[in-house]
Amino acid sequence: MKLYLLLVFLGIFCVPCESYYREDYDQSTKDFIDMVVSDEDHSDHDHDEHHEKNKGKKNAGHGWNYLFSGPAIWGHFKRTCNGRQQSPINIESRSLKEVEKQRITHNYGEKPTGSYEMLNNGHALQINFNGDTKYRLKKNGKSYTPLQVHIHFNPFTNKGSEHTFNQNKYFAEIHIVHKRTRYTGKSFMNHDDGLLVIGMFVDIGKNDSTAAKYFSNVAKECFKPDMKKKIKAFNLASLFPSGNANFQSKYAYVNYHGSLTTPPCSEIVDWIVVTGNTLKINSETAKLFKDVRNGANGPMGGDGGNNRPVQKLNKRTVTGVVNGFF
Ligand SMILES: [Zn+2]
Repeated sequence: MKLYLLLVFLGIFCVPCESYYREDYDQSTKDFIDMVVSDEDHSDHDHDEHHEKNKGKKNAGHGWNYLFSGPAIWGHFKRTCNGRQQSPINIESRSLKEVEKQRITHNYGEKPTGSYEMLNNGHALQINFNGDTKYRLKKNGKSYTPLQVHIHFNPFTNKGSEHTFNQNKYFAEIHIVHKRTRYTGKSFMNHDDGLLVIGMFVDIGKNDSTAAKYFSNVAKECFKPDMKKKIKAFNLASLFPSGNANFQSKYAYVNYHGSLTTPPCSEIVDWIVVTGNTLKINSETAKLFKDVRNGANGPMGGDGGNNRPVQKLNKRTVTGVVNGFF
Protein backbone atom coordinates (compact mmCIF):
# COMPACT_ATOMS: atom_id res chain seq x y z
CA MET A 1 0.00 0.00 0.00
CA LYS A 2 2.80 2.39 0.96
CA LEU A 3 4.66 1.55 -2.22
CA TYR A 4 1.50 2.18 -4.24
CA LEU A 5 1.05 5.62 -2.67
CA LEU A 6 4.68 6.44 -3.33
CA LEU A 7 4.34 5.49 -6.99
CA VAL A 8 1.20 7.63 -7.34
CA PHE A 9 3.01 10.52 -5.70
CA LEU A 10 6.01 10.17 -8.01
CA GLY A 11 3.70 9.90 -11.00
CA ILE A 12 1.73 13.02 -10.16
CA PHE A 13 4.44 15.34 -8.92
CA CYS A 14 7.87 14.35 -10.09
CA VAL A 15 7.23 13.62 -13.75
CA PRO A 16 5.65 16.99 -14.54
CA CYS A 17 8.22 18.86 -12.50
CA GLU A 18 11.07 16.98 -14.16
CA SER A 19 9.79 17.67 -17.65
CA TYR A 20 9.03 21.26 -16.78
CA TYR A 21 12.62 21.81 -15.73
CA ARG A 22 14.05 19.91 -18.68
CA GLU A 23 12.20 22.11 -21.09
CA ASP A 24 13.15 25.12 -19.08
CA TYR A 25 16.80 24.19 -19.12
CA ASP A 26 16.94 23.30 -22.77
CA GLN A 27 15.46 26.69 -23.45
CA SER A 28 17.93 28.39 -21.14
CA THR A 29 20.86 26.58 -22.76
CA LYS A 30 19.71 27.94 -26.08
CA ASP A 31 19.22 31.39 -24.64
CA PHE A 32 22.67 31.37 -23.13
CA ILE A 33 24.24 30.51 -26.46
CA ASP A 34 22.17 33.21 -28.11
CA MET A 35 23.32 35.59 -25.42
CA VAL A 36 26.98 34.66 -25.85
CA VAL A 37 27.01 34.85 -29.62
CA SER A 38 24.54 37.77 -29.78
CA ASP A 39 25.80 40.10 -32.49
CA GLU A 40 29.17 38.58 -33.06
CA ASP A 41 28.83 37.09 -36.48
CA HIS A 42 27.34 39.21 -39.23
CA SER A 43 28.38 36.62 -41.78
CA ASP A 44 25.69 34.31 -40.33
CA HIS A 45 22.89 34.00 -42.84
CA ASP A 46 20.29 33.65 -40.13
CA HIS A 47 21.49 36.76 -38.31
CA ASP A 48 18.46 38.94 -38.94
CA GLU A 49 16.08 36.09 -38.48
CA HIS A 50 17.76 35.32 -35.16
CA HIS A 51 17.13 38.87 -34.00
CA GLU A 52 13.53 38.81 -35.13
CA LYS A 53 13.04 35.64 -33.10
CA ASN A 54 14.50 37.18 -29.96
CA LYS A 55 12.58 40.40 -30.24
CA GLY A 56 9.28 38.99 -29.13
CA LYS A 57 10.77 36.68 -26.55
CA LYS A 58 9.74 37.62 -23.05
CA ASN A 59 12.40 37.35 -20.35
CA ALA A 60 14.79 35.41 -22.54
CA GLY A 61 17.04 33.08 -20.55
CA HIS A 62 15.39 33.48 -17.17
CA GLY A 63 14.67 29.75 -16.71
CA TRP A 64 17.42 29.15 -14.16
CA ASN A 65 18.36 31.53 -11.39
CA TYR A 66 20.43 31.89 -8.23
CA LEU A 67 17.62 31.22 -5.74
CA PHE A 68 15.03 28.43 -6.12
CA SER A 69 16.52 27.04 -9.34
CA GLY A 70 19.95 27.95 -7.97
CA PRO A 71 23.52 26.70 -8.43
CA ALA A 72 23.06 23.77 -6.01
CA ILE A 73 20.55 22.12 -8.35
CA TRP A 74 21.80 23.24 -11.78
CA GLY A 75 23.50 19.84 -12.08
CA HIS A 76 20.17 18.02 -11.89
CA PHE A 77 19.07 19.59 -15.15
CA LYS A 78 22.37 20.14 -16.88
CA ARG A 79 24.76 17.35 -15.99
CA THR A 80 27.77 19.37 -17.15
CA CYS A 81 27.28 21.61 -14.10
CA ASN A 82 28.47 18.65 -11.98
CA GLY A 83 31.62 18.25 -14.11
CA ARG A 84 35.19 18.15 -12.83
CA GLN A 85 36.49 21.30 -14.51
CA GLN A 86 33.96 23.83 -13.26
CA SER A 87 34.28 27.55 -12.57
CA PRO A 88 34.64 29.73 -10.59
CA ILE A 89 37.37 28.49 -8.25
CA ASN A 90 39.24 29.83 -5.25
CA ILE A 91 42.67 31.05 -6.38
CA GLU A 92 45.26 30.26 -3.73
CA SER A 93 48.42 32.27 -4.34
CA ARG A 94 50.60 29.72 -2.49
CA SER A 95 49.59 26.89 -4.83
CA LEU A 96 50.23 28.57 -8.18
CA LYS A 97 52.61 27.17 -10.76
CA GLU A 98 54.44 30.40 -11.54
CA VAL A 99 55.75 31.44 -14.96
CA GLU A 100 57.23 34.78 -16.06
CA LYS A 101 54.92 35.44 -19.02
CA GLN A 102 52.70 33.94 -21.73
CA ARG A 103 52.57 34.68 -25.43
CA ILE A 104 49.61 37.09 -25.56
CA THR A 105 49.10 40.03 -27.92
CA HIS A 106 46.06 42.15 -28.74
CA ASN A 107 45.00 45.38 -30.43
CA TYR A 108 42.58 46.57 -27.71
CA GLY A 109 44.09 50.05 -27.59
CA GLU A 110 42.99 50.81 -31.16
CA LYS A 111 40.12 53.15 -31.96
CA PRO A 112 36.72 51.41 -31.70
CA THR A 113 34.29 51.13 -34.60
CA GLY A 114 30.51 50.77 -34.70
CA SER A 115 28.31 50.84 -31.62
CA TYR A 116 27.68 48.48 -28.70
CA GLU A 117 24.47 47.40 -27.01
CA MET A 118 23.99 47.37 -23.25
CA LEU A 119 21.32 45.20 -21.68
CA ASN A 120 19.91 43.49 -18.61
CA ASN A 121 19.53 39.78 -19.51
CA GLY A 122 17.82 38.86 -16.24
CA HIS A 123 21.01 37.30 -14.80
CA ALA A 124 23.64 39.98 -15.34
CA LEU A 125 24.27 43.41 -16.81
CA GLN A 126 25.98 43.07 -20.15
CA ILE A 127 27.49 45.04 -23.02
CA ASN A 128 27.56 43.31 -26.43
CA PHE A 129 30.36 44.38 -28.78
CA ASN A 130 29.68 44.95 -32.46
CA GLY A 131 29.58 41.77 -34.53
CA ASP A 132 32.16 42.99 -37.03
CA THR A 133 34.65 44.06 -34.35
CA LYS A 134 38.27 44.27 -35.48
CA TYR A 135 39.53 43.56 -31.98
CA ARG A 136 41.49 40.33 -31.61
CA LEU A 137 43.43 38.69 -28.79
CA LYS A 138 46.07 36.09 -29.63
CA LYS A 139 47.22 33.56 -27.05
CA ASN A 140 49.82 30.94 -27.94
CA GLY A 141 49.01 31.28 -31.63
CA LYS A 142 45.22 30.98 -31.18
CA SER A 143 43.07 33.96 -32.18
CA TYR A 144 40.05 35.05 -30.13
CA THR A 145 37.25 37.53 -30.94
CA PRO A 146 35.65 39.50 -28.08
CA LEU A 147 31.85 39.04 -27.91
CA GLN A 148 30.61 40.75 -24.78
CA VAL A 149 31.47 41.93 -21.28
CA HIS A 150 29.20 41.42 -18.24
CA ILE A 151 29.26 41.90 -14.48
CA HIS A 152 28.45 39.75 -11.42
CA PHE A 153 27.91 41.86 -8.28
CA ASN A 154 26.42 42.16 -4.81
CA PRO A 155 25.81 45.70 -3.49
CA PHE A 156 24.23 44.36 -0.27
CA THR A 157 27.21 42.37 1.02
CA ASN A 158 29.93 43.78 -1.29
CA LYS A 159 30.86 40.12 -1.93
CA GLY A 160 29.60 39.60 -5.47
CA SER A 161 32.69 38.22 -7.22
CA GLU A 162 32.63 34.67 -8.55
CA HIS A 163 36.30 33.71 -8.21
CA THR A 164 37.83 34.23 -4.81
CA PHE A 165 41.48 35.17 -4.23
CA ASN A 166 42.93 33.53 -1.12
CA GLN A 167 39.29 33.02 -0.06
CA ASN A 168 38.49 36.75 -0.44
CA LYS A 169 35.46 37.97 -2.34
CA TYR A 170 35.14 41.40 -3.94
CA PHE A 171 32.21 43.71 -4.66
CA ALA A 172 31.98 42.49 -8.26
CA GLU A 173 33.69 40.58 -11.06
CA ILE A 174 33.72 41.65 -14.70
CA HIS A 175 34.03 39.03 -17.45
CA ILE A 176 35.16 39.80 -20.99
CA VAL A 177 33.94 36.83 -23.07
CA HIS A 178 35.85 35.86 -26.25
CA LYS A 179 35.23 33.04 -28.70
CA ARG A 180 37.95 31.35 -30.68
CA THR A 181 37.83 33.18 -34.02
CA ARG A 182 38.10 30.07 -36.21
CA TYR A 183 34.83 28.55 -34.89
CA THR A 184 31.96 30.00 -36.87
CA GLY A 185 28.42 30.58 -35.58
CA LYS A 186 27.79 28.70 -32.35
CA SER A 187 30.20 25.81 -33.01
CA PHE A 188 32.57 27.11 -30.31
CA MET A 189 30.22 25.42 -27.83
CA ASN A 190 31.50 22.04 -29.09
CA HIS A 191 35.23 22.67 -28.53
CA ASP A 192 37.08 22.68 -25.23
CA ASP A 193 39.02 25.73 -26.42
CA GLY A 194 35.87 27.48 -27.65
CA LEU A 195 36.00 30.45 -25.26
CA LEU A 196 38.52 32.63 -23.47
CA VAL A 197 37.24 34.78 -20.60
CA ILE A 198 39.17 37.55 -18.84
CA GLY A 199 37.94 38.04 -15.26
CA MET A 200 38.71 41.17 -13.24
CA PHE A 201 37.76 41.90 -9.63
CA VAL A 202 36.04 45.16 -8.71
CA ASP A 203 36.87 46.46 -5.24
CA ILE A 204 35.35 49.39 -3.32
CA GLY A 205 37.70 52.37 -3.66
CA LYS A 206 37.86 56.14 -3.97
CA ASN A 207 37.42 56.72 -7.70
CA ASP A 208 35.46 54.75 -10.28
CA SER A 209 37.54 52.86 -12.85
CA THR A 210 36.40 53.38 -16.44
CA ALA A 211 34.84 49.90 -16.47
CA ALA A 212 32.86 50.77 -13.32
CA LYS A 213 31.58 53.92 -15.08
CA TYR A 214 30.39 51.88 -18.06
CA PHE A 215 28.53 49.43 -15.83
CA SER A 216 27.02 52.02 -13.50
CA ASN A 217 25.50 53.48 -16.66
CA VAL A 218 24.07 50.04 -17.56
CA ALA A 219 22.72 49.75 -13.98
CA LYS A 220 20.92 53.08 -14.38
CA GLU A 221 19.63 52.63 -17.92
CA CYS A 222 18.81 48.90 -17.83
CA PHE A 223 17.64 48.32 -14.25
CA LYS A 224 14.78 46.05 -15.36
CA PRO A 225 15.19 42.71 -17.21
CA ASP A 226 15.13 42.87 -21.01
CA MET A 227 15.89 46.59 -21.09
CA LYS A 228 18.50 47.38 -23.74
CA LYS A 229 20.05 50.44 -25.33
CA LYS A 230 22.67 51.26 -27.99
CA ILE A 231 25.80 52.99 -26.74
CA LYS A 232 28.92 54.49 -28.28
CA ALA A 233 31.69 51.95 -28.82
CA PHE A 234 34.76 52.15 -26.54
CA ASN A 235 38.21 50.62 -26.86
CA LEU A 236 38.56 47.40 -24.90
CA ALA A 237 41.81 48.45 -23.24
CA SER A 238 39.74 50.94 -21.25
CA LEU A 239 38.16 47.98 -19.43
CA PHE A 240 41.48 46.95 -17.88
CA PRO A 241 42.68 48.18 -14.46
CA SER A 242 45.30 50.34 -16.18
CA GLY A 243 42.34 52.00 -17.92
CA ASN A 244 44.29 53.21 -20.95
CA ALA A 245 45.80 52.02 -24.18
CA ASN A 246 49.44 52.33 -23.20
CA PHE A 247 49.82 49.07 -21.30
CA GLN A 248 52.62 50.37 -19.13
CA SER A 249 51.39 48.25 -16.24
CA LYS A 250 51.74 44.52 -16.42
CA TYR A 251 49.58 43.10 -13.67
CA ALA A 252 49.86 39.47 -12.65
CA TYR A 253 47.09 37.08 -13.57
CA VAL A 254 46.26 33.38 -13.27
CA ASN A 255 45.34 31.02 -16.08
CA TYR A 256 43.43 27.73 -15.84
CA HIS A 257 40.93 25.60 -17.76
CA GLY A 258 37.34 25.80 -16.58
CA SER A 259 33.72 26.35 -17.51
CA LEU A 260 30.94 28.82 -18.02
CA THR A 261 29.73 29.89 -14.56
CA THR A 262 26.07 29.66 -15.65
CA PRO A 263 24.12 26.79 -17.23
CA PRO A 264 24.98 24.98 -19.46
CA CYS A 265 28.32 25.14 -17.52
CA SER A 266 30.24 23.92 -20.60
CA GLU A 267 33.92 23.16 -19.86
CA ILE A 268 35.22 25.16 -22.80
CA VAL A 269 36.82 28.18 -21.15
CA ASP A 270 40.45 29.27 -21.04
CA TRP A 271 40.23 31.46 -17.92
CA ILE A 272 42.45 34.48 -17.29
CA VAL A 273 41.75 36.10 -13.91
CA VAL A 274 43.65 39.28 -13.02
CA THR A 275 45.09 39.04 -9.52
CA GLY A 276 47.78 41.76 -9.63
CA ASN A 277 45.32 44.66 -9.42
CA THR A 278 41.60 45.32 -9.07
CA LEU A 279 39.19 47.68 -10.77
CA LYS A 280 37.67 50.22 -8.37
CA ILE A 281 34.17 51.47 -7.70
CA ASN A 282 33.17 54.26 -5.34
CA SER A 283 30.81 53.16 -2.54
CA GLU A 284 28.18 55.70 -3.68
CA THR A 285 28.33 54.42 -7.27
CA ALA A 286 28.10 50.86 -5.94
CA LYS A 287 24.71 51.66 -4.35
CA LEU A 288 23.21 52.19 -7.83
CA PHE A 289 23.37 48.41 -8.31
CA LYS A 290 20.82 47.89 -5.51
CA ASP A 291 18.03 48.96 -7.87
CA VAL A 292 18.87 46.44 -10.60
CA ARG A 293 16.15 43.75 -10.93
CA ASN A 294 16.64 40.16 -12.11
CA GLY A 295 14.42 37.97 -14.28
CA ALA A 296 12.21 37.09 -11.30
CA ASN A 297 11.88 40.79 -10.48
CA GLY A 298 14.02 40.42 -7.34
CA PRO A 299 17.20 42.39 -6.63
CA MET A 300 19.78 41.05 -9.11
CA GLY A 301 22.68 41.25 -6.68
CA GLY A 302 20.61 40.33 -3.60
CA ASP A 303 18.61 37.21 -2.66
CA GLY A 304 20.69 34.45 -4.22
CA GLY A 305 22.99 37.04 -5.85
CA ASN A 306 24.20 36.54 -9.41
CA ASN A 307 27.46 34.82 -8.59
CA ARG A 308 28.02 31.06 -8.54
CA PRO A 309 29.87 29.66 -5.49
CA VAL A 310 33.43 28.38 -6.01
CA GLN A 311 33.83 24.85 -7.39
CA LYS A 312 36.35 22.09 -6.65
CA LEU A 313 39.73 22.40 -8.36
CA ASN A 314 40.02 18.60 -8.87
CA LYS A 315 43.77 18.46 -9.58
CA ARG A 316 43.72 21.16 -12.22
CA THR A 317 46.85 23.28 -12.57
CA VAL A 318 46.48 27.01 -12.01
CA THR A 319 49.32 28.92 -13.64
CA GLY A 320 50.38 32.20 -12.05
CA VAL A 321 51.70 34.62 -14.70
CA VAL A 322 53.92 37.29 -13.16
CA ASN A 323 54.03 39.66 -16.15
CA GLY A 324 50.50 40.31 -17.40
CA PHE A 325 49.34 42.45 -20.31
CA PHE A 326 46.75 44.75 -18.69
ZN1 LIG B 1 30.29 35.74 -15.99
